[in-house]
Amino acid sequence: MKVLLVEDDEDIAEPLIVGLRREGFEVQHVSTAAAALAAAPPDLVLLDLGLPDAHGFEVCRQLRARSSVPIIMVTARDDEIDRVTGLELGADDYVVKPFGFRELAARIRAVTRRTAGTQVFNGTQQLGSLEIDRREHRVVLDGEELALTPKEFDLLALLAVDAGAMVTRRDILAEVWDPHWYGTTRTVDVHIASLRRKLGHPDWIETCRGVGFRLAVPQ
Ligand code: CA
Repeated sequence: MKVLLVEDDEDIAEPLIVGLRREGFEVQHVSTAAAALAAAPPDLVLLDLGLPDAHGFEVCRQLRARSSVPIIMVTARDDEIDRVTGLELGADDYVVKPFGFRELAARIRAVTRRTAGTQVFNGTQQLGSLEIDRREHRVVLDGEELALTPKEFDLLALLAVDAGAMVTRRDILAEVWDPHWYGTTRTVDVHIASLRRKLGHPDWIETCRGVGFRLAVPQ
């Protein structure tokens, strides 16, 4: 997944680039509004509002006018006006400086999940021999369509949004079932087990012991 980082402060940009790359994101860094608008279309934009050549709002407005790329604004002040204006201009979320890296990574994943299917992946996503068509709710493996239940499909689609990244059981329950789910995480394990069986190779879904799961193309 390609992240365009628009940030003129090198002291903020540098650790962010390192952290995002460690999390598996591809990062392109620019430090002006003009460069942001000229950059190749990314999968997500992290946009600082205080830029040397234009306000981040203007960048947000222009990006939104031509694409539905997810945008997370980075603001120096927790200012209600900034927040409302930014969201009105089409930003998907915002973080306030100083922010923890884990918080930012979680926001990126949340925004990506919310917008998946409509923006991040238009049409079919290909992962090795696996094809996921979110519009048609179809999954094809080695040319054969898999008969998945709706929950199994949602589960696979969620894990595939950022393949290789770990998704916690709690996030899975919140996204695939309901944010107010009061059942046990055993439900997730049961569905993972049946999805694994249908995928035919246990390595498609790796278990991160006690925490969650990640989708990986078997070697
Ligand atoms: Ca700045």
